[in-house]
Amino acid sequence: MKRMAVLLALISWLGLAAAALAQAGYPPRVDLYVNDLAGVITDEDRGRIQSTLQTLQAEHGVEMTVLTIETILEYGTGDGTIESFATGLFNQWGIGDAERNDGVLLLVAIEDRELRIELGAGYGPADEDGLGAVIDRLMVPQFREGNYSLGIVEGVEAMAARLRGEPEPLWAAVSPTTPSSSQPVSSGRNILWWAGGGTVALLGASNALLTRWRRYRRRTCPACQLTEMTRLGELEDDAFLQEGQRLEESLKSVDYDVWQCPNCQHYEVVPFVAWFSHYKKCTQCQYRALETKSRVLRQPTYSSTGLEERVSSCHHCSYHHRTEHVIPMKTQSSSSSSGSFSSRSSSSSSRSSSGGGRSSGGGRSGKW
Ligand SMILES: [Zn+2]
Ligand SMILES: [Zn+2]
Repeated sequence: MKRMAVLLALISWLGLAAAALAQAGYPPRVDLYVNDLAGVITDEDRGRIQSTLQTLQAEHGVEMTVLTIETILEYGTGDGTIESFATGLFNQWGIGDAERNDGVLLLVAIEDRELRIELGAGYGPADEDGLGAVIDRLMVPQFREGNYSLGIVEGVEAMAARLRGEPEPLWAAVSPTTPSSSQPVSSGRNILWWAGGGTVALLGASNALLTRWRRYRRRTCPACQLTEMTRLGELEDDAFLQEGQRLEESLKSVDYDVWQCPNCQHYEVVPFVAWFSHYKKCTQCQYRALETKSRVLRQPTYSSTGLEERVSSCHHCSYHHRTEHVIPMKTQSSSSSSGSFSSRSSSSSSRSSSGGGRSSGGGRSGKW
């Protein structure tokens, strides 16, 4: 009987938790310049970003801030896109001067594989134009290699240079400071560029074509060196794939091409990993069949943190893993309390109060 009462209490509590979901909020702003909730920025890079942004604000009055999160979904704000999440968060944080509305937010959602540079309402469409190059040329190539910290630092420094009013940067014409030579795609991107209006810009549009070329280029048989191999059709190639690989194809996490030599029958299996798949690589069986589902166990409030459960299970093997993650406390809206951060300050050197700036949704997004 006692057990039944506990069970009923638990059920009603879960119901309340679900009802509260819609009221969950944006993460609080603990540091003025860097809030690395996804934990991808190294200590050294954090210091570099803080000093760059502090100088930018001190000398040019422009407030820019960086936020990394795992996914926009974990905050239950009801935002369905990174764009609306960025705008909502920007306005809650009140980034930038309230009169000039010149704040800038760099938001990176690691698990969503999306980023957003959100501009204050004081910027015009012309200011958005250069953002695409910062995102596509500097940040996305690093993110694709898993170099989140470096990509963020490079993006911040490029943005800071723009905001300081420096001429259109030369990095747009040369390859990034650490070129990813392992990726033929990025080295090939330098092919097309043009000069105009005193600036040099670069086109990344040939990306898709290069990827296609990489995939369908002719391949000479490495075994007999006599013939070109032929690419088998989707049905034919199944016979050459392992069971796990066929599962990956059905989950669309990896697409396999099978090339076979008509002369000696030598064959090669070439994987193409989908960038946007939500199936990750399973640590047990190594197939990209790991799905993670999360749910809120306890909502954050203004006085206590919340709790989220994440369950990862593999569609191929028996791997099953459950973790709990703390959801940051809710924060008061900036209009009512711009000084509300001070009580939770962790790095006093880089703190001052936020300006109360607004965004009307301008900016640029990117995916990797
Ligand atoms: Zn052959
Ligand atoms: Zn597995």
